[in-house]
Amino acid sequence: MEFRDLKKQYQAHQKEIDAAMKAVIEETRYISGPQVARLEEKLAAYVGVKHCIACGNGTDALQLALMAWNIGAGDAVFVPDFTFFSSGEVVPLVGAVPVFVDVREDTYNISPESLEEAIEYVLRHTDLKPRVVVAVDLFGQPAEHEKIHEIAEKYQLLVLEDAAQSFGGRIGERRTCSFGDISTTSFFPSKPLGCYGDGGAVFTDNDEWADILRSLHVHGKGGDKYDNVRIGLNSRLDTLQAAVLLEKMDSLDEELKRCDQIAAAYTKRLADVVRTPEILPGMQSAWAQYTVLTENKEERERLIAALKEEGIPTAVYYKKPMHLQQAFAGKLIEAVPCTQTEKICGRCLSLPMHPYLEEEQIEAVCERMIGAQ
Ligand SMILES: *Cc1c(COP(=O)(O)O)cnc(C)c1O
Repeated sequence: MEFRDLKKQYQAHQKEIDAAMKAVIEETRYISGPQVARLEEKLAAYVGVKHCIACGNGTDALQLALMAWNIGAGDAVFVPDFTFFSSGEVVPLVGAVPVFVDVREDTYNISPESLEEAIEYVLRHTDLKPRVVVAVDLFGQPAEHEKIHEIAEKYQLLVLEDAAQSFGGRIGERRTCSFGDISTTSFFPSKPLGCYGDGGAVFTDNDEWADILRSLHVHGKGGDKYDNVRIGLNSRLDTLQAAVLLEKMDSLDEELKRCDQIAAAYTKRLADVVRTPEILPGMQSAWAQYTVLTENKEERERLIAALKEEGIPTAVYYKKPMHLQQAFAGKLIEAVPCTQTEKICGRCLSLPMHPYLEEEQIEAVCERMIGAQ
């Protein structure tokens, strides 16, 4: 069994994907070929946002957003303590200071109460200027964007939605990547919409920021590529990756529906065994991960070993709170306790989750989980 079966996914659409890749190879416009602009249009329409700028990966996408807003020295950026490293990594990269915020134990997403407490701390106890909150849609479920926006408005912060794990997710009818002042996603192969290498995108309704982002991701270009008006990055999406994504987008909604059925099947069988993931009313997860909470670390180790015996892979996302990562030592402000994050890191366990998981495989995972109790 695969944790995320990319081979089966490829085989399901092999003919179209092979043809699309072959066309790019024959056309030889490997960088900035016409597929890239087509993809950007299709992504923007899908999400319901005016501008999409495809780029090299989801981490660059976050960095580009912070650069477009001129975030740097003296600025505080609020980031959930429980997330993938990138969400926080980009903050010191642009010279700003990360302030890690606790998450909700039931949704794993940023706690609006902890966010407000952290902003108040920074205002009272530091010389930093609160500028941005990075609202991560962890494991596919959108963060509580309405509450986050209320807080952002109160303190005049910009909202950067990190939708790397949630592409295709929704609140009501509205898609992720539309909730931030700028939103970003990743097309890393195992994400809900993955390509066959690295890839990412930035989304915004703001015309001025879109222009700056378009410049920033190609060496800060001005009128043309050899006229440089600002310091930027070399961060483009390859034409080959755009061609793959154009094909893969057509099956995304169907795949998300299937993931939803799988999640429901897991939850039905496992609710008495472990703490199953909580999806808030009106929210639709893109199911990047199906993550449960065990009683304690020992139970987690026991379950991992029991599943492994049956050839069932698992993963622990994430073992370490961001504020304890050595890379941030001396670079962060510890504004609030992150006790929920610390608890979750010791107890979370992610099970195999992808749209090509079969009934027997779901059953095998559940049986082993129940048996190992
Ligand atoms: C994967 C991920 C990223 C980074 O995306 P890359 O394309 O790997 O650079 C950023 N944030 C979160 C939450 C992620 O899961």
